[in-house]
Amino acid sequence: MSNDERPLAVITGASSGIGYELAKCCGQHDFDLVVAADESEIHTAARRLRHLGVMVDAVEADLSTLRGVDELLAAIGERPVCALIANAGTGLGGAFLEQPFASIRHVIDTNITGTLYLLREVGAEMRERGEGHILITGSIAGFIPGTYHAVYNATKAFLDSFAFALRAELEDAGVSVTCLMPGATETEFFERSDTEETRLGESNKQEPDEVAEQGFAAMMRGDGDVVPGWQNKLRAALAKMSPPKVTAEIHRHLAEPGGAHR
Ligand code: NAP
Repeated sequence: MSNDERPLAVITGASSGIGYELAKCCGQHDFDLVVAADESEIHTAARRLRHLGVMVDAVEADLSTLRGVDELLAAIGERPVCALIANAGTGLGGAFLEQPFASIRHVIDTNITGTLYLLREVGAEMRERGEGHILITGSIAGFIPGTYHAVYNATKAFLDSFAFALRAELEDAGVSVTCLMPGATETEFFERSDTEETRLGESNKQEPDEVAEQGFAAMMRGDGDVVPGWQNKLRAALAKMSPPKVTAEIHRHLAEPGGAHR
């Protein structure tokens, strides 16, 4: 059932993990939803989210491409977006020089290029209206050179930095920008990025619903950033204080392929 009074939230990467839980938070707070992901599972996620009693449109599109983002923008249409959650992202474990360049590029195009194109298009419309909330899923990985996960960590460093810059640019525009910086979270991420067999992949992880609840609350308050969980706050603080050559070595230990079995 449609409700013209209900605000609209757009969530990318909402078929599973943190994005699905963020979409759930939005639905529970009476947002209508446009949810997007690359595979057909987004339709299953949308069916489950409809049980919250809100309108849910599902978009199956590859957001690493401008065409895919255009499909999402077309599905949003003229509706004002109250909350934009740019969460879709993917990793790629292993040694940089062993990775196919197409896979490297897919990570960069998903995490950065498609995300920025979406933020630019929807952000401009929010600025014109003088209202809106943006949540960008960065990571505490952005504070650490990602030995054996180098490209991914670098894309998250980009997003962590970009979010603060965009926030400053929109300071007086009525549009808030929040960066959600999770640590290791129990999602399909590790399997998809082929990092399951690492010490990081086998480590204790936070539950995605906890991460999402804290991210959603921070976005609605208009906070600059949120690192969910005290352990991640500690890790982030230590990473910021440590020289990069030290954190790069720690990351080698955590992300070395097969490290979990040594
Ligand atoms: P996940 O369960 O694998 O979810 C990733 C989501 O992004 C899925 O919905 C996936 O949809 C979507 N996605 C990936 N590539 C896409 C593309 N090219 N086009 C459209 N959708 C795409 O993993 P997650 O942990 O929830 O990840 C969500 C975000 O959190 C990511 O940005 C990730 O970097 C970040 N993060 C994760 C962790 C962690 O430890 N899990 C920690 C810090 C930050 P498809 O399946 O359809 O591709």
